[in-house]
Amino acid sequence: MYDIKSFKAEEFISDEEILDTLAYADANKDNVDLIDEILNKARERKGLNHREASVLLACDMEDKIQEMYALAKQIKEDYYGNRIVMFAPLYLSNYCVNGCVYCPYHLKNKHIARKKLTQEEVAKEVIALQDMGHKRLAIEAGEDPVNNPIEYILECIDTIYSIKHKNGAIRRVNVNIAATTVENYRKLHDAGIGTYILFQETYNKKSYEELHPTGPKHDYAYHTEAMDRAMEGGIDDVGLGVLFGLELYRYEFAGLLMHAEHLEAVHGVGPHTISVPRLKRADDIDPDTFDNGIDDDTFAKICALIRISVPYTGMIISTRESQAVREKVLPLGVSQLSGASRTSVGGYAEPEAEDVTTEQFDVSDNRTLDEVVNWLIKMGHIPSFCTACYREGRTGDRFMTLCKNMQILNCCHPNALMTLKEYLEDYASPETKEIGSKLIEQELEKIPNPKVKATATEYIHNIADGKRDFRF
Ligand code: SF4
Ligand code: SF4
Repeated sequence: MYDIKSFKAEEFISDEEILDTLAYADANKDNVDLIDEILNKARERKGLNHREASVLLACDMEDKIQEMYALAKQIKEDYYGNRIVMFAPLYLSNYCVNGCVYCPYHLKNKHIARKKLTQEEVAKEVIALQDMGHKRLAIEAGEDPVNNPIEYILECIDTIYSIKHKNGAIRRVNVNIAATTVENYRKLHDAGIGTYILFQETYNKKSYEELHPTGPKHDYAYHTEAMDRAMEGGIDDVGLGVLFGLELYRYEFAGLLMHAEHLEAVHGVGPHTISVPRLKRADDIDPDTFDNGIDDDTFAKICALIRISVPYTGMIISTRESQAVREKVLPLGVSQLSGASRTSVGGYAEPEAEDVTTEQFDVSDNRTLDEVVNWLIKMGHIPSFCTACYREGRTGDRFMTLCKNMQILNCCHPNALMTLKEYLEDYASPETKEIGSKLIEQELEKIPNPKVKATATEYIHNIADGKRDFRF
């Protein structure tokens, strides 16, 4: 039944194939020759398929795990350098008609405060985000055809792009809304969105149906086939993710890679990003009632293996994770981070009163954006506010070709330096400005192409003189 090119969810994510894969992985988890062969394939930057990667995930030999970690770090550096792209989520509305048992926005939760931002409130949120220094947002909304129809989402996107406060601008809006129709995806595409993100939650159909007992999201096939519809609607860049903790992680991991393989096989473009959220505490939600939680070491291994299996993808870690966990997984291939996130509706402009909550989950990293930027610089990463690719039309297969040939780094690196310079000029604390300026000087020296180096240096001087928005 497994058919990578099928457009039917149960065929490109075949339960039978996943179970066979897990049995194969168990049978080979101590097979050193095979593990070395798989690691060698990964070293050639060819990526790994779900079977190969599942063998590595099952392997618990410490020396091999360290090899996986070292390889993940090297691959991330080869593809994306030391830049880490920053973004923030923006919650528009927590009205939702679905019954997801792990999310506080589920319809039957009567004690959570429901809120939907007006356009004036969206503008206030955007100004607050711009005043921190953010340039890239991921908008989030529950599924509710009456309260949050596509027209509402489109209006919010227009508002977000229209706000130019001081030197601020949101230059890329990624969208995380429920699975929808080809027609609606076309409208999102026409509104100029960046990536369309939809978490699968779980690839196990039986669990999926139990975890989504009511509402349109109950339909496993409709949800799982959403990315194919999004691409049919013209969206070039899509972002995958599972919510680790709902099902057995090895099952999810195999399903996630099968989904990536399917997108590549039928559209020629794999996932632009992969997110790795873990189940968190929230109003009405106790993570201890889900018994598939994963520990930090397993989480780290999953991150490293996603990086070596899908080397071209952007890997995202949110503020669901603490500073300590983020520090642990950053060197394992993470390429995007959220910073200073609020997971409540309207939480940037006005922090919530103690007795009111509209949050989707508890944030574990509560630092300000400046603190996160400062921390990244001290660890030798370049915090990047770059949004250049989508604005230069480098999306879909154009992006993938550059990325797979490891040429995207020629854009990422100078763009990271220029957008960091903007951040330092407009928003940074004195200490962050000082260490950030030194980092920029050092990193400019590393640009190999003399012409690019000269242009980037000139642009950075122009930014110091008050000009903005340069990009390669
Ligand atoms: S996960 Fe999404 S669809 Fe499910 S209840 Fe929460 S907001 Fe609604
Ligand atoms: S150049 Fe493209 S891939 Fe690199 S950080 Fe900018 S938008 Fe992302």
